[in-house]
Amino acid sequence: MSANKDEVLLKVNKIYNPPERVLEKVLITAEEFDRMYEESIKDPEGFWSRLAENELHWFKKWEKIREWEFPNYRWFIGGKLNITYNCLDRHVKNGKRNKVAYIYTNEDNEEIKITYGELLELVNKIANGLKSLGVEKGDRVVIYMPLVIEQLATMLACARIGAIHSVVYAGFSANALKMRIEDAKAKVVVTSTWTKRRGKKIDLKSVVDEAVDGVETVESIVVLQRDGDQFELVEREIDFYELIEKQSPECEPEVMDAEDPLFILYTSGSTGKPKGVLHTVAGYNLYTHLTTKYIFDIHEDDIYWCTADPGWITGHSYMVYGPLSVGATSVIAEGAPDYPDPGRWWSIVEKYRVNIFYTAPTAIRLFMKYGDEWPKKYDLSSLRILGSVGEPINPEAWLWYYEVIGNSRCSIVDTWWQTETGGHMITTVPAYPQKPGKAGKPFWGVEVDVVDREGYPEENNKVGYLVIKQPWPSALRACWGEPERFEKYWTEIDHYYFSGDLATKDEDGYIMILGRADDVINVSGHRIGTAEVESALVSHPAVAEAAVIGKPHDVKGESIKAFVILKEGHEPSETLIKDLKLHVRRELGSLAVPDEIEIMDKLPKTRSGKIMRRVLKARELGMPLGDISTLED
Ligand code: ATP
Ligand code: MG
Repeated sequence: MSANKDEVLLKVNKIYNPPERVLEKVLITAEEFDRMYEESIKDPEGFWSRLAENELHWFKKWEKIREWEFPNYRWFIGGKLNITYNCLDRHVKNGKRNKVAYIYTNEDNEEIKITYGELLELVNKIANGLKSLGVEKGDRVVIYMPLVIEQLATMLACARIGAIHSVVYAGFSANALKMRIEDAKAKVVVTSTWTKRRGKKIDLKSVVDEAVDGVETVESIVVLQRDGDQFELVEREIDFYELIEKQSPECEPEVMDAEDPLFILYTSGSTGKPKGVLHTVAGYNLYTHLTTKYIFDIHEDDIYWCTADPGWITGHSYMVYGPLSVGATSVIAEGAPDYPDPGRWWSIVEKYRVNIFYTAPTAIRLFMKYGDEWPKKYDLSSLRILGSVGEPINPEAWLWYYEVIGNSRCSIVDTWWQTETGGHMITTVPAYPQKPGKAGKPFWGVEVDVVDREGYPEENNKVGYLVIKQPWPSALRACWGEPERFEKYWTEIDHYYFSGDLATKDEDGYIMILGRADDVINVSGHRIGTAEVESALVSHPAVAEAAVIGKPHDVKGESIKAFVILKEGHEPSETLIKDLKLHVRRELGSLAVPDEIEIMDKLPKTRSGKIMRRVLKARELGMPLGDISTLED
């Protein structure tokens, strides 16, 4: 092992204390966070009552904090509110009318800023427009739009009038879109003509045309025409701006019950057919508000940038509802991360002096592959908090994020959560010590554990199933149209929420995610998480990305096969493969060494950027591919 390699290992196993400049201004200290955590578990009633009262505006106060009739639960029973009032009206009333809510930019470097006052008016006009089309409380509206301000405003407009939105990532095929429109029995579909990626226009309108064909529930299709478009709209279609132009900029927010549905959103489909997750108003509002505020440590004058798409839960919770509820200024950027060149994102950080940056490991690994010279060209000194979400972040990628992007002066928050959880569940708040590759500890009200199949706790550092012991405010309330799928979350391991992920817990209570329970590889009776082996491979200097699967093996039960993408400047060879195997042996021991390593140009991923191991496995074993509606390309 080279000296360089030893150095890296030392760094990866180190504990990173938050930098002074972060600590100086944190909204919550580690001690206060811990104290509140204790309280949230010991006295949930008092805890949630106080926070709900202090952090949100209610039209009518709740009568009871929580009811749990297994497997169903409800929060803030009897409470009345509207999430858009909390996201918009209250800020406008409290002197933030002219504060910028969103700064939009795109590959052509165009810029649009919209203030809280303007956003409220836009949302109200769209809301009135939807009403004029006959949309009522409880009706479903499917949104298939690129990342533009009108997209986010349409989500809010639905919430304003109590319509349930179901956002579909504008990159899904007509089939996937059709399935979601039919599933929701949508009354209205809101779309746009195109989006631009890598300089090319991607047609969205024709996808919608195909998707709605023959779907009778759809009464209207609202089309946002973009610069230069002059579509001839037919039948059920209406132009977005024509619809809202004449509408009043005022629209009373619908008085929503705490437990009224807010939206349906499908999971990424990494492990199987996507589930239509239903979230309700109050618990989701409060939980995403709190996590946004304290985990991203957002201050009044901070600029916050979440690089997700509104088509994913990260976009819902941490691009729309959370940041708006806390009154933040957010950057949003349409287009590819590395176009026109790999410096694109860093130029945005420099230009807007971004303080808080939230992205996914897939993007971090992409930029690592391009090399340090790209971020080094830009002034990234405004950054204070760096977030990660979506997959386990390999310690190697963590370190790169910390040193190269954060210049060793930022806190990293590695947020573990799911579409089903609505908001962050496990992470470190910025004032906490950080450990590369370990997400951290549970957030307020969240009781996590690592257990065996029967629900008994595993010893420290032993692999088990990650569960949550009680419902939390933003827990999913249903799987749309599939009640048995909802129950499974709470019955797989009796009375615990089954996350489907494998994890370990260390002496300090830090949780490390090891991959999906479905993907666990059993080599000679030892359970090996995919993330461990993948991280070991990624820590080799030649490897940019890796995915591993288990294959049936006569003697061992299963053997490991790895698929690897090389960094720029490295060529596949027999020697390299041998070296990779040796490297894994050194890092993890002989059990974890892949029997086969295949060098690839690309890995199959979901549209949200997660590796789809089940596709690699099916292909390897010559099995049917299963539901691949969310597969990229
Ligand atoms: P499906 O449930 O349809 O298979 P999915 O689980 O990929 O899809 P999401 O809800 O988008 O759908 O993703 C949640 C999953 O993402 C988690 O269960 C976990 O495996 C992974 N994940 C998210 N954040 C992290 C993180 N910080 N560290 C490790 N894994 C993470
Ligand atoms: Mg999942």
